[in-house]
Amino acid sequence: MTDSYDIVIIGAGPGGYNCAIRAGQLGLKTAIIEKRETLGGTCLNVGCIPSKALLHASEMFTRAKQDFAGMGIKTGPIELDLPTMMAQKNDAVDGLTAGVAFLMKKNKVTTYYGTGKILAPGKVEITKAEGGTEELVTKNIVIATGSEPSTLPGIEIDETRILTNTGAIALDKVPEKLILIGAGVIGLELGSVWSRLGAEVTVLEYLDRIMPGADTEVAKTAQRIFKKQGLKFKLGQKVTGAKASKTGVTLSVEPAKGGSSEDMQADVVIVAVGRKPYTEGLGIDAVGAKTDARGVIETTDHFKVAEGVWAVGDCIDGPMLAHKAEDDGAAVAELIAGKAGHVDYNLVPSVVYTNPEIAWVGKTEEELKAAGIAYKKGHFPYKANSRARTNHETDGFVKILADAKTDQILGAHMIGVGVGEMIGEIGVAMEFGAASEDVARTSHAHPTLSEAIRQAAMDVEGWAMQM
Ligand code: FAD
Ligand code: NAD
Repeated sequence: MTDSYDIVIIGAGPGGYNCAIRAGQLGLKTAIIEKRETLGGTCLNVGCIPSKALLHASEMFTRAKQDFAGMGIKTGPIELDLPTMMAQKNDAVDGLTAGVAFLMKKNKVTTYYGTGKILAPGKVEITKAEGGTEELVTKNIVIATGSEPSTLPGIEIDETRILTNTGAIALDKVPEKLILIGAGVIGLELGSVWSRLGAEVTVLEYLDRIMPGADTEVAKTAQRIFKKQGLKFKLGQKVTGAKASKTGVTLSVEPAKGGSSEDMQADVVIVAVGRKPYTEGLGIDAVGAKTDARGVIETTDHFKVAEGVWAVGDCIDGPMLAHKAEDDGAAVAELIAGKAGHVDYNLVPSVVYTNPEIAWVGKTEEELKAAGIAYKKGHFPYKANSRARTNHETDGFVKILADAKTDQILGAHMIGVGVGEMIGEIGVAMEFGAASEDVARTSHAHPTLSEAIRQAAMDVEGWAMQM
């Protein structure tokens, strides 16, 4: 007999598993299909979680080497134990992916391990991991198949010498020379990890700046700080080919604006030039779904692809972030249950988990200028914040942008220790349509880093008191 459901979700990343949890909570009969051996998608298996485990551990390593002595902490020689560092990363991944399986059971979601294919609206076939196929009948299909790394012509990924994020979080030895292609989020995060562990890291970027999409002032400050930490940047560079051998990789690189090509040698190369939606073999044609030139599934009317077919997360428009996928997934479950479901992509925060962290939400100065929106700016440096000074972590600043007439907050851009947590305050303020003065007049505990937000908000009206 064919099993029938209210919702069948294809893909168990943050988009899919959060859709399943919310659907289960709302009493919908729900199934989820995943082709990996574990749930959690890119994020838990090869993305957010393992990269953050390595960022945290490598930061502790650097602090122990560089900062402890100055704080009066004597240690013996500090040595890297890479197998243990990798094992604690794997523990984090195993614990959290098992946690998702537990949440599926808790919310009465049936999990199928295998590859899902849409046969027609209301019909999904699973090619099971253990062999054989099974057909499910469903009122709604949710596509949550996520994304995969983009590649470059002339470069073949082997995950041994030329890696994507999957190989880059699992190296068994610190490379002497590492080249990252792409100075975006992965380039900076994984470049930081391997640089802290001892690799000589060069980041090649096509554009003449790092982190396109981030506020330019923040990006410039970040580049200066990362350079001091030992990362080398070569901007305006185009990689035209890569040849891997047993001993290393030879990259052919030329100036993006034209000019003669040079060869660069590395032990390992990480390709981090963005990600593209993953819909291979999914059968989206069967429901008349369209994709744009980048492979993004087109949706109309809140995540709808066709009657009874929805899509969420990295495979549709919007920032390719786990919390955005999560919000999409929950919204679709609510829409299917007859409730309202909406996600404001302007208020999805971005965080880069380097040291210092980088975080932003809302519009950048460049975007406001391009849209012709008049704005006021408040700025507060970390070096004037008492907690940052006490902790010897004075690199960075907070910048708040507010509408010139109404004072409504339009964006915030921060670089500094702890800003990944602090950005949430501005997200809440913006959700409530707060003015910068609302934040400036809100009590913030002393001494905390978040006082820098309050002072920046005061500075919008020119009355920051502590600088
Ligand atoms: P995915 O997580 O990609 O999940 C899709 C799932 O669908 C996969 O498990 C896949 O196996 C499965 N699937 C695909 N096709 C089928 C099929 N036909 N049948 C069955 N299953 C299928 N975002 C953040 O917000 N914060 C971070 O710190 C962060 N760090 C990252 C670090 C790295 C190195 C990378 C690569 C990404 C990072 N991201 C981060 C981005 C984040 O991982 C993605 O935005 C998020 O995983 C998207 O969720 P999703 O559910 O749309 O897709
Ligand atoms: P990205 O879009 O952040 O950065 C890609 C970079 O590569 C850009 O700077 C781009 O200009 C550059 N580039 C593109 N083509 C190039 C070429 N031919 N030569 C040199 N440079 C080139 O992409 P990513 O770093 O690969 O990360 C993918 C996505 O994963 C991110 O956009 C983000 O959505 C997600 N992610 C998020 C986090 C986080 O939230 N902390 C961490 C990692 C990844």
